Order: sequence, then structure tokens, then C-alpha cells
Amino acid sequence: MYSFVSRDEGSSVYSAVSSILLETRGNVWKRVARESPKFNLMLGERNGLPYGRLGHEPGFVQIVNYYRGSGCLCRKTSMVSTLCKQWKETGQEPFEWLPPSFILYPNITPEQEEQSDLKSFIAQKKRSIKTDEREEFKQYFERVRSEGKGCIWIVKSAAGAKGQGVLISSDVEEILHFTDSKSQAHIVQKYLEKPLLLSGDRKFDIRSWVLVDTQFDIYLYKEGVLRTSSEPYNATDLTDLTSHLTNHCLQEHSQNYGKYEEGNELFFDEFNRYLQSQHSVTLSASILPQIENIILECFKACKEHLSTAGFAYKSFQLFGFDFMIDEAFKVWLIEVNGSPACAKKLLPSLAESLIQTAVDPVFPLSQEQQITAENLFTKINYNLTQ
Ligand code: ADP
Ligand code: MG
Ligand code: MG
Ligand code: MG
Repeated sequence: MYSFVSRDEGSSVYSAVSSILLETRGNVWKRVARESPKFNLMLGERNGLPYGRLGHEPGFVQIVNYYRGSGCLCRKTSMVSTLCKQWKETGQEPFEWLPPSFILYPNITPEQEEQSDLKSFIAQKKRSIKTDEREEFKQYFERVRSEGKGCIWIVKSAAGAKGQGVLISSDVEEILHFTDSKSQAHIVQKYLEKPLLLSGDRKFDIRSWVLVDTQFDIYLYKEGVLRTSSEPYNATDLTDLTSHLTNHCLQEHSQNYGKYEEGNELFFDEFNRYLQSQHSVTLSASILPQIENIILECFKACKEHLSTAGFAYKSFQLFGFDFMIDEAFKVWLIEVNGSPACAKKLLPSLAESLIQTAVDPVFPLSQEQQITAENLFTKINYNLTQ
């Protein structure tokens, strides 16, 4: 008998995983109390994992559903430092699929510096330790603008999510004023000015689910979802965020929410039909190979931060990769989420596939317990030493 603890009631994915373990593998898996030290699998909450306590219980192989170092990809500022490091240090070309991005810390005014309250002290410390990239950003802004490659940028906070606290602007002073007025670091990222649009001239982004198992094998979920905008894209009005940001929480407030697609969600089959009929390209030939390549490059770039080699426990993790496609069918990485939600329709199958990919191989079922449900995670073939 194997045992698991479930500590995150707020996660729809891990609530589903927990139910499926009990419903379909109840003769081998039992759920034990949250604080029990004796368990094989911890379904933990992302920001409160007792990593130090894992792997020390005699007789128990322990695995947990997060990689301790995953912030290097999933926190927006850390992702930029991880993925742009080489570019900025050596001048080597950046990954061609990441919109150029810079990290900005709020500027500390002399008045603030004199205040002894904790907040400005910390902000000051952070700024002195880490490097603010506003000068590099200003230079790059000018260069890109003068080369006619556009001058719109998007500003997002380090820990932001759900499209909150975003500024889209083509005015450097406005951008710096915006970040200086905040108390946390931001990234300023080149805005993709010419996105591929759907019927009704609407923008979208793509959510792909990626699973990294305990062996650091990487799997892409076969199904993905486009989150669509309710309003036509308008690059000349940067203030109407509903046409620019495709997060559900923003789209929900639009009068046209659900007008084109139920819940503003478009699944891969239908998107593929759209690509074929309107643009004579297919998802499998033109888009998915780019997506797979980006995912691999990301994990190659942060391999050391994620490695659990030599640890007493092992990790696996589900990631939500957000992509955009431009009008030339080039795929761009927008962000990586470390505890992604899942479209309702896909949830049961995603949770079952996750267990089959990341849990069953470590804690095998007996012959007669074999599961027949389909596993929709496909391994991306790679060699990390390359
Ligand atoms: P969040 O964590 O808030 O979802 P994202 O980085 O995914 O942050 O940005 C929110 C939305 O803003 C995306 O879904 C996309 O629609 C839009 N967006 C983000 N970055 C860009 C960009 N570089 N170019 C164009 N649109 C972008
Ligand atoms: Mg600097
Ligand atoms: Mg996010
Ligand atoms: Mg997002």
C-alpha cells in the first residue's frame, strides 16, 4: 500500500489527482493526514512545501509535486534573468523565441532613502544587489524603434498573474514612471505587435501543459487551449486592455465574453481546422515543433536550478506554458506558470495522464490493477547534454 498527503485544497488539478488516486487506485493508494511523516507522495502547496523534511522517513520513497527551484522559470523576473543571461553577458543572440525583456527595479528617491521603514530598506537592498536594466532597456528601445521594429512594450510585475497590474506603452518615460511607482520589480518586454488573429480580428494566447517527471523527462500534453479575446485587436489603442490581454479574468468582464467561443476557449482541433482553412498550415507541422523546441530550450537553460540529483526525495511538476503566435506563424514564449489551472473540460483526463506519467512508474501497480485510460502526455525526445 502507498500513501499520499494532499495539502492544497485550492488546486483543481491536485484535487482531481487526489480523487483519481482514491477512485481508480484505491486498493494501492490511501490518503493520510496532512502532517503525517509517513507518505510516499506529497501533493503540496507551492509556497509552503517542507522540502527539508522530505526523503528522511525510513522505508518510504518520497516524491513531491514541485521542483524546489522552479521559480527560475515561473517568476517573471527570474525567467528573464535565466533565459537572457547569455545574451546580456556575452552579447550572444538571445533566444529568438523570447520577446526581448529587461528587469526594472523601482528607483529609490533620496527622500525614500532617508526613510527607515522596512519596505524602502528592502527595495534599496534589492536594487543594490541586483542589476537594474533601465539603461540597457532605453538603448534597446531606441535601437528597435529606429530599425522600424516597433516601439510598443508591455510591463508586468515580477509575481503578477491573471493579467493584473499590466501596462502597455510606447512611451519610455511612462514605463519608467510606472515601474518606479511600484514596490516590486517588473519586467518590460517587447510587445508582439503583429499577432496572428482569429475570426473577428481577435488576439489569443496558447496554454500548453508540460510535465517534468522525477527523471527529468519532459512531456507535452496533447491537448491545449487558446484563450481568446472578446474584442478586435487594436494596436493604436493601448489603453483598452481587453483587446490586448487574453486572460479569462479580464475577458470575463467584456460584454462579448463567450460570443465567439464558449468561455473564450478554443481547443486544438478547432484551431487546427482554422489554420488549415484560413492559412493552409497545420498545428502539427508548423506550430507544435516550435512549441516543443521552446520547452526544451527552457529546461536546458535552468537544468541546474531544478536538478534533484543527490536529494533524498524526487520531484515532478506540471507547468503551464503560455505562447503567442505572430502573423508569420512564429511561436513566442510569453510566460511559464508553476501551478497552472486546467480548462474544466480537460481536467479529468489531464489528472489521470499526470498520474500515469509521473506517479505510476515510481509506485507501480500490479498486473491486475493496470489502468486502461489513455495517457495524453507525450515525451519530448531530447538529450540534455547536447
Ligand atoms: P499573466 O501571468 O498575468 O497571465 P502573461 O505574461 O501571460 O501574464 O501576460 C498576460 C497576457 O498579456 C497574455 O496572455 C497575452 O495575452 C498578453 N501578453 C503578454 N506578454 C505579451 C507580449 N510580449 N506581447 C503581446 N502580448 C502579450
Ligand atoms: Mg545596469
Ligand atoms: Mg501567469
Ligand atoms: Mg499568462
